[in-house]
Amino acid sequence: MPPANLVAGNRKMNGLSDFLQETDALSARFAGKNTPETAIIPPFPYISALAAKKSFFKIGAQNCHTAEKGAFTGDVSAEMLKDVGAEYVIVGHSERRGGCGETNEIVKSKAEAALRAGLKPIICVGEDEATYRAGEGSDFTAKQTVASLPEGFSPDTCVIAYEPIWAIGTGLTPTEDEINAVCGRVRAATAEKFGAAAAEKTRILYGGSVNDKNAAAIAALSEVNGALVGGACLKNETFIPIIEAFA
Ligand code: PEP
Repeated sequence: MPPANLVAGNRKMNGLSDFLQETDALSARFAGKNTPETAIIPPFPYISALAAKKSFFKIGAQNCHTAEKGAFTGDVSAEMLKDVGAEYVIVGHSERRGGCGETNEIVKSKAEAALRAGLKPIICVGEDEATYRAGEGSDFTAKQTVASLPEGFSPDTCVIAYEPIWAIGTGLTPTEDEINAVCGRVRAATAEKFGAAAAEKTRILYGGSVNDKNAAAIAALSEVNGALVGGACLKNETFIPIIEAFA
């Protein structure tokens, strides 16, 4: 049995509180229907309000600090996120690896902080365009996976997202064969570190310009167990077909 799909919508730093009404419409659309596990991942200030809705979707956060508490002005701990209703937290998104200097060690440590707090980390990995063009995307991503997975890894609590950086927000995607091959390689890297049984049960999401047109083909790939969606999760008209594609 392959692991059950997860569709996670990363809203990044978009929208104000009126997006909460959009999520009400999403809930109404899926009331009484079969859905894949779905997570909405808003900016920090909206987590509590979204959690109060108690809808079909789970709630995620976009980042956490490695420490439980302390003098870290402007940061948020995994424990705080859990406290306000988050179940998932993204760690190692390329916008943080690239923009905020997060190394594999930091990402690993953030994933460990998430586990400590009882959150499920969605650990992002993926190559940049030059690495892809050099034909080294798969090797790079496998090494990054091994270096980023936390001690205490379990397929029940950890999710991996393969997100080629050059595909994020660009409308470009690797071919379906390439996506499947790299996700398979990520699984093999997970097996090297934590054993084949754990790797087989691990959810590996694809992220990078997933939209309402390509979601069904991506959902059909044998090594893909869901999607991390950026731009297309901001509007129900594009997010709904993606959720349906992974049902
Ligand atoms: C992302 O940033 O995680 C992402 C997948 O973005 P997009 O879907 O917009 O490419």
